[in-house]
Amino acid sequence: MARPIRARIDTAAFRHNYLLSKQHAPQSRAWCVVKANAYGHGLANCAEAVRDVVDGFALLDMAEAAWLRSEGFLQPVLLLEGGFDAAELHEAAKLNLAIVVHAMPQLDALEEAVLSQRLDVFLKINTGMNRLGFVPADVPKVLARLRACGNVRSLTLMTHFACADGLGIASQWACFTDCMAGSELPFSAANSAALLRFPETHGAWVRPGIMLYGGSPMPASQSAADLGVRPVMTLISELIGVQTLHAGEHVGYGATFTAEHEMRVGVVACGYADGYPRHAPTGTPILVDGVRTRTLGRVSMDMLAVDLTPVPNATIGSPVTLWGKGLPADEVATAAGTISYELFCALARRVLVTTT
Ligand code: PLP
Repeated sequence: MARPIRARIDTAAFRHNYLLSKQHAPQSRAWCVVKANAYGHGLANCAEAVRDVVDGFALLDMAEAAWLRSEGFLQPVLLLEGGFDAAELHEAAKLNLAIVVHAMPQLDALEEAVLSQRLDVFLKINTGMNRLGFVPADVPKVLARLRACGNVRSLTLMTHFACADGLGIASQWACFTDCMAGSELPFSAANSAALLRFPETHGAWVRPGIMLYGGSPMPASQSAADLGVRPVMTLISELIGVQTLHAGEHVGYGATFTAEHEMRVGVVACGYADGYPRHAPTGTPILVDGVRTRTLGRVSMDMLAVDLTPVPNATIGSPVTLWGKGLPADEVATAAGTISYELFCALARRVLVTTT
């Protein structure tokens, strides 16, 4: 018998969220960030949902970029920073992709390559996140080389913020504006949080990711609903078992939950091998028959336990929502000490993904 767990992708909600991101930055174009298989939602599902409205897609994998082209997506496609070698530069030219250059070996490769066409280049500057990018002191000479490089069709300056969702962007923004001074080049800086919080960072291209998928970039201060962002992935399953615990009895590995009195416990076909976080503690919110209740004890590989006290009529086959419509992924993520990004991206291959 097939396990009843499914991830339902609401493609209309994805489209809504993308258009909402554009409303927040009306002067900019918006990269629809679909890296990591569209944050676990399925590249095909999400790309199709915005086919006629999208300004461009940003992703990491050459294979995903090639898939977009093979499916007739003619919009700009930006290969976000990973690191490309000479062979990939040829592929990027063949597929007409924009590329991010963030380190000297890439610049060397770009100068040396004989390409079938010029590329749109995004020059990544490290303004303080200290992951990727050229340090500000190197920017003038890198810019001079890129301006002189015959393989460059257009240049855009780019950076990425570390704390746009929290402490803010002040020092990174000051650094970036210093780097941009006098260059008169277009720029791209804003992820979802900066797009929503710091309009000065919008520039030529914003780069929303999580808000497209129905997550709030700052769930502690503003929920997705506050932002008008709709859930895209709803993870659903069913009860496959019901137990009655007596006072003093336990449920699950490690016997970490002990019943204080007699209670009914449901067993849900969803575990960490489906992508549900194993470290979600007792009390993590979950819906049974649309009623909010809580998980109990440890999450197992293929199942987890829930408190049926608020749902006395629940029985084997009752529907369960792990996150999504009716239960924001941000709430589950917060309870489990993680972020919605991780929940979405961790969705396991064995979970059937359907669209609505
Ligand atoms: N831009 C870059 C370079 C990224 O790596 C990401 C995602 O991590 C984004 C934009 C989108 O960020 P968010 O999902 O926080 O909107």
